[in-house]
Amino acid sequence: MTSSEDPTRTEPGGAVEAVPAVVEFRGVEKTFNPGTPDAYTALKDLEFRVDDLPSVGEFIAIVGPSGCGKSTALNLIQGFPDVYPPTRGEVLVRGQRVGGPGRDRGMIFQRYSSFPNRTVLRNVTFGLELNREDLGLSRPEMDRIAREWIARVGLEGHEHKYPHQLSGGQQQRVAIARTLVLKPRILLMDEPFSALDEPTRFEMQRLITGLWREIEATVFVVTHSIAEAVYLGDRLWIFTPPPGRIGRAFNDILPPTHGIDPVDAQTSQQFKDAVDEVVEAFHELQGEAAERR
Ligand code: ADP
Repeated sequence: MTSSEDPTRTEPGGAVEAVPAVVEFRGVEKTFNPGTPDAYTALKDLEFRVDDLPSVGEFIAIVGPSGCGKSTALNLIQGFPDVYPPTRGEVLVRGQRVGGPGRDRGMIFQRYSSFPNRTVLRNVTFGLELNREDLGLSRPEMDRIAREWIARVGLEGHEHKYPHQLSGGQQQRVAIARTLVLKPRILLMDEPFSALDEPTRFEMQRLITGLWREIEATVFVVTHSIAEAVYLGDRLWIFTPPPGRIGRAFNDILPPTHGIDPVDAQTSQQFKDAVDEVVEAFHELQGEAAERR
């Protein structure tokens, strides 16, 4: 086993230091427009640590009432300039304080994340073009890699179409290919399938869990669908009403669903019981917050 595969690292002098978490939040608060009448604290005391599981990755599903900072938390991991830095606390990715977006992190939004003036092929090569020097890729190599991802997301034959010529589900496939082509270590998905009808949502859930096995990333997915969270999540966090923090964390109540077709998985009694348990916890948290007010 080489040191890069070893989950612990021996420091000179014999001390053993754990490998840094893939993502860690330490006492994070985010207040927008501080000191003004519009001040809004979206997150407060948000603390968590997601360990690096080399060659495995993990799905963390986040649910919570609207306005409790779920998107803000993803944006802080991504290092988006309109959200970063946190008002208090620290956001660390693999032990380093986040300073801005990076190729190790990819984001998939609800919609409109592709460039309307670029074809499917050029949307998918975009990230490769941006990182061309780092990656050392020639134009033919970029096109070949992009075409492979286009095929993986089931869009072979659509390479030269523009986003407006595609259905909502197909556009989301472009967004997925565009993001995964860079093999991000961390994948952030913000309500990725909310705009899609239910059969298309199931298709997307099938696609993303299948592709995830190839990229072995740590995935954070925010969704308003508790069923989707239970299906996708290895872990599921419920955020409290604003200001948001983790109110309940489920690490092992979820039935194992990866590799099981979303329709089959989501119709089992065990799955429905898990959803009921999460729904109940969600309402309890809202009740507790209302009592405190
Ligand atoms: P959630 O995803 O849980 O619904 P958000 O993370 O989107 O919550 O944000 C919570 C609130 O924070 C928003 O409703 C908005 O009022 C405020 N907010 C989010 N981003 C910004 C921003 N860039 N500038 C100012 N306020 C923001």
